[in-house]
Amino acid sequence: MSDCLFCRIVAGEIPADVVAENEAAIAFRDITPVAPKHSLVIPRAHHANLVEVAAAAPDDLVKMVQLAGEVAAVEGIAEEGYRLVANTGAAAHQTVFHAHLHVLGGRSMGWPPG
Ligand code: AMP
Ligand code: ZN
Repeated sequence: MSDCLFCRIVAGEIPADVVAENEAAIAFRDITPVAPKHSLVIPRAHHANLVEVAAAAPDDLVKMVQLAGEVAAVEGIAEEGYRLVANTGAAAHQTVFHAHLHVLGGRSMGWPPG
Protein backbone atom coordinates (compact mmCIF):
# COMPACT_ATOMS: atom_id res chain seq x y z
CA MET A 1 0.00 0.00 0.00
CA SER A 2 1.35 3.43 -0.94
CA ASP A 3 1.91 5.91 1.86
CA CYS A 4 1.04 8.75 -0.53
CA LEU A 5 -2.40 10.13 0.36
CA PHE A 6 -3.35 11.05 -3.20
CA CYS A 7 -2.07 7.74 -4.64
CA ARG A 8 -4.44 6.10 -2.15
CA ILE A 9 -7.32 8.24 -3.44
CA VAL A 10 -6.43 7.22 -7.03
CA ALA A 11 -6.41 3.57 -5.91
CA GLY A 12 -9.85 3.98 -4.29
CA GLU A 13 -8.46 3.20 -0.82
CA ILE A 14 -9.55 6.59 0.53
CA PRO A 15 -12.92 8.07 -0.52
CA ALA A 16 -13.08 11.34 -2.42
CA ASP A 17 -15.90 13.59 -3.63
CA VAL A 18 -15.07 13.21 -7.32
CA VAL A 19 -16.18 16.05 -9.62
CA ALA A 20 -14.75 14.85 -12.95
CA GLU A 21 -12.06 12.57 -14.31
CA ASN A 22 -10.27 11.58 -17.47
CA GLU A 23 -7.72 8.93 -18.41
CA ALA A 24 -4.82 10.85 -16.86
CA ALA A 25 -6.31 12.81 -13.96
CA ILE A 26 -8.99 12.91 -11.26
CA ALA A 27 -10.68 15.97 -9.77
CA PHE A 28 -12.27 15.93 -6.34
CA ARG A 29 -13.44 18.49 -3.80
CA ASP A 30 -10.90 19.68 -1.24
CA ILE A 31 -11.62 18.35 2.24
CA THR A 32 -10.84 21.80 3.75
CA PRO A 33 -12.16 24.30 1.20
CA VAL A 34 -10.79 27.84 1.29
CA ALA A 35 -13.31 29.13 -1.25
CA PRO A 36 -16.98 28.31 -1.97
CA LYS A 37 -15.75 26.15 -4.88
CA HIS A 38 -12.46 24.35 -4.19
CA SER A 39 -11.40 21.21 -6.00
CA LEU A 40 -8.08 19.51 -6.60
CA VAL A 41 -6.93 18.06 -9.92
CA ILE A 42 -4.34 15.30 -9.52
CA PRO A 43 -2.57 13.07 -12.03
CA ARG A 44 -3.27 9.35 -11.66
CA ALA A 45 0.49 8.72 -11.74
CA HIS A 46 2.65 9.83 -8.85
CA HIS A 47 4.82 12.93 -9.41
CA ALA A 48 5.94 15.18 -6.57
CA ASN A 49 4.76 18.43 -8.14
CA LEU A 50 3.43 19.99 -11.32
CA VAL A 51 6.88 20.73 -12.79
CA GLU A 52 7.78 17.08 -12.44
CA VAL A 53 4.60 16.15 -14.33
CA ALA A 54 5.69 18.53 -17.10
CA ALA A 55 9.11 16.90 -17.24
CA ALA A 56 8.04 13.27 -17.06
CA ALA A 57 4.57 13.22 -18.64
CA PRO A 58 3.73 16.46 -20.48
CA ASP A 59 0.58 14.96 -22.01
CA ASP A 60 -0.73 14.34 -18.49
CA LEU A 61 -0.14 17.99 -17.61
CA VAL A 62 -2.30 19.05 -20.56
CA LYS A 63 -5.01 16.63 -19.45
CA MET A 64 -4.85 18.04 -15.91
CA VAL A 65 -5.44 21.57 -17.21
CA GLN A 66 -8.25 20.35 -19.48
CA LEU A 67 -9.86 18.67 -16.46
CA ALA A 68 -9.50 21.87 -14.43
CA GLY A 69 -11.53 23.61 -17.13
CA GLU A 70 -14.19 20.89 -16.86
CA VAL A 71 -14.30 21.34 -13.09
CA ALA A 72 -14.84 25.08 -13.52
CA ALA A 73 -17.73 24.35 -15.90
CA VAL A 74 -19.30 21.74 -13.58
CA GLU A 75 -18.97 24.09 -10.60
CA GLY A 76 -20.50 27.01 -12.52
CA ILE A 77 -17.49 29.31 -12.21
CA ALA A 78 -16.12 29.15 -15.75
CA GLU A 79 -17.74 32.43 -16.81
CA GLU A 80 -17.04 34.55 -13.74
CA GLY A 81 -13.48 33.30 -13.38
CA TYR A 82 -11.46 31.11 -11.09
CA ARG A 83 -7.92 30.59 -9.95
CA LEU A 84 -5.59 27.64 -10.65
CA VAL A 85 -2.91 27.28 -7.98
CA ALA A 86 0.01 24.87 -7.78
CA ASN A 87 1.80 25.29 -4.47
CA THR A 88 5.28 23.94 -5.18
CA GLY A 89 7.60 23.18 -2.27
CA ALA A 90 7.36 23.78 1.46
CA ALA A 91 7.85 27.56 1.30
CA ALA A 92 4.83 27.79 -1.02
CA HIS A 93 2.76 25.75 1.46
CA GLN A 94 2.72 22.50 -0.49
CA THR A 95 1.67 19.91 2.08
CA VAL A 96 0.87 16.90 -0.13
CA PHE A 97 3.77 15.91 -2.34
CA HIS A 98 1.69 14.35 -5.10
CA ALA A 99 1.18 16.94 -7.85
CA HIS A 100 -2.10 18.83 -7.74
CA LEU A 101 -3.81 21.90 -9.09
CA HIS A 102 -6.20 23.78 -6.82
CA VAL A 103 -9.29 25.05 -8.70
CA LEU A 104 -10.61 27.93 -6.60
CA GLY A 105 -13.67 30.07 -7.24
CA GLY A 106 -17.05 31.27 -6.12
CA ARG A 107 -15.69 34.45 -4.56
CA SER A 108 -13.50 37.35 -5.57
CA MET A 109 -9.81 36.42 -5.23
CA GLY A 110 -7.30 38.74 -3.61
CA TRP A 111 -4.04 39.73 -5.21
CA PRO A 112 -1.22 39.37 -4.37
CA PRO A 113 -1.84 35.94 -2.86
CA GLY A 114 -0.75 35.41 0.73
P1 AMP B 1 -1.26 21.82 -0.73
O1 AMP B 1 -1.19 22.52 0.61
O2 AMP B 1 -1.14 22.73 -1.90
O3 AMP B 1 -0.28 20.66 -0.79
O4 AMP B 1 -2.72 21.23 -0.85
C1 AMP B 1 -3.12 19.99 -0.32
C2 AMP B 1 -4.61 20.04 -0.21
O5 AMP B 1 -5.09 18.71 0.00
C3 AMP B 1 -5.13 20.87 0.98
O6 AMP B 1 -5.94 21.94 0.49
C4 AMP B 1 -5.94 19.86 1.80
O7 AMP B 1 -7.10 20.43 2.36
C5 AMP B 1 -6.26 18.80 0.76
N1 AMP B 1 -6.54 17.47 1.27
C6 AMP B 1 -5.82 16.78 2.19
N2 AMP B 1 -6.37 15.57 2.38
C7 AMP B 1 -7.46 15.49 1.58
C8 AMP B 1 -8.45 14.50 1.33
N3 AMP B 1 -8.44 13.30 1.97
N4 AMP B 1 -9.43 14.77 0.45
C9 AMP B 1 -9.48 15.96 -0.18
N5 AMP B 1 -8.57 16.94 0.00
C10 AMP B 1 -7.58 16.71 0.88
ZN1 ZN C 1 1.18 9.87 -4.96
